[in-house]
Amino acid sequence: MDRKVRVRFAPSPTGALHLGGVRTALFNYLFARHHGGDFLLRIEDTDQTRYVPGAEEYIIESLKWCGLTVDEGVGVGGEYGPYRQSERKPLYKQYALQLVESGNAYYSFDSAEELSAQRAACEAKGETFMYNAISRKNMKNSLTMSAEEVKTLLDSGANYVIRFKMPENEDLYLHDIIRGEVHFNTSLLDDKVLFKADGMPTYHLANIVDDHLMKISHVIRGEEWLPSLPLHVLLYRAFGWEDTMPEFAHLPLILKPVGNGKLSKRDGNKMGFPVFPMEFTDPETGEKWHGYKEDGYLPEAFINMLALLGWNPGTEQEIFTLQELCDQFSLERVNKSGARFNPDKAKWFNHKYLVQKSDAELAIQLNEFLVKDGISYDMAKLEKICRLLKERANFVADIYNSSQYFYHAPQTYDEKGVKKSWKEETPALMEELIDVLEKVSEFTSPNTEEAVKEWVASKEVGFGKIMNPFRLAIIGSADGPHMFDIIEILGKEETLTRLHRIISTLK
Ligand code: GLU
Repeated sequence: MDRKVRVRFAPSPTGALHLGGVRTALFNYLFARHHGGDFLLRIEDTDQTRYVPGAEEYIIESLKWCGLTVDEGVGVGGEYGPYRQSERKPLYKQYALQLVESGNAYYSFDSAEELSAQRAACEAKGETFMYNAISRKNMKNSLTMSAEEVKTLLDSGANYVIRFKMPENEDLYLHDIIRGEVHFNTSLLDDKVLFKADGMPTYHLANIVDDHLMKISHVIRGEEWLPSLPLHVLLYRAFGWEDTMPEFAHLPLILKPVGNGKLSKRDGNKMGFPVFPMEFTDPETGEKWHGYKEDGYLPEAFINMLALLGWNPGTEQEIFTLQELCDQFSLERVNKSGARFNPDKAKWFNHKYLVQKSDAELAIQLNEFLVKDGISYDMAKLEKICRLLKERANFVADIYNSSQYFYHAPQTYDEKGVKKSWKEETPALMEELIDVLEKVSEFTSPNTEEAVKEWVASKEVGFGKIMNPFRLAIIGSADGPHMFDIIEILGKEETLTRLHRIISTLK
């Protein structure tokens, strides 16, 4: 690649960033890093009617949480700024006018009423209205009006928009890095508005002008923008910028876990998984959305999971650090077809990263749960608890939930368990067990295990006859990891207290 790689993530601040958006950001980031290029963040906020307060901050925070460092753009700065399109407003008009001048665009003065009348007339005939090469001939625009009429209207301050003059019936064969050659015929495309009555450019104009001025080398974005590709390429041609036009790559859709269609934010709440990186409350509706962060996912796991939604390394490898992803990523290995989202796989990834965390790090997080409950527990013991339980956990919350018996002695005993393992001779056996344990001076797991096994071997009873009621006494049920590991953490005193308690309770 002879050109410096410069890619941009260009979200519109119209709400929280969906995980598809994060994946777009991620693929741009990986591509930039792989080629030693720049990763830009541009905020496309030209549509002021769709602006959602807080959305921009949300986007920036989400990228930070994911560890995707922006080199240039909103919140960072850079030599091609400003990077928020609303702050670039004065810049766009000259480009729209340049296209009018060169005959690639035109003024259109049709009022909202006139346009809806056209729409209604078409609908009555079972057709959809398109402002295009055919209908533009019957509309109020600078192609149908005399130069003088146009001038008078403009001078009088009449409302107008500037539309692109889409060529009639032209075949375009365009290149997409992921899809190869893509064919379009311009007769199916309309004369898109480039510049609006409020003095703002539309997405299409601002996007092309900014990609050009910001020297973007590759446009990597979601498949939903593929239909805009012909217009965008034609805009580059109309401006005479085709020789520096970026290359395009349209990423596959992310599909629902089951059934057809694109993953939507509603699917998450319906099926119980987050579709947003962080929690989000819609400022207008008050609706609340779960976030991966608050649901206990590790950012490394989230990113790893997203990377494999549409990309594959061509090997069996599934676990990647961000650096490994940067090293291995290529657009050539991105699929054309939609990538099905699998919430269980997301949990699996989290599990893989959770078990790699040090016990000390996990203990700190576990402690945060306990602090909320007003429990203070020895940190060294919490580390042991994490070591013991992390293999069966996807989240720190799972460790917290499955470790409750460490902080609270059982108040009741599982009925089935009692029926099965609390026999007539059990209290006497438990008394003996108490004596055996009492005598173990250094109360470690191997020491207690050895003492208990030795004692059991000397008796005519099966190991289960001892261990099952013992487990009931300590945990209250038949769950949990290795008993002797548990009692090492509980300590001798607490272990014996719980044994005494079950004997007196079940008398
Ligand atoms: N503002 C557009 C969006 O929200 C950007 C599309 C593009 O990358 O060209 O997705």
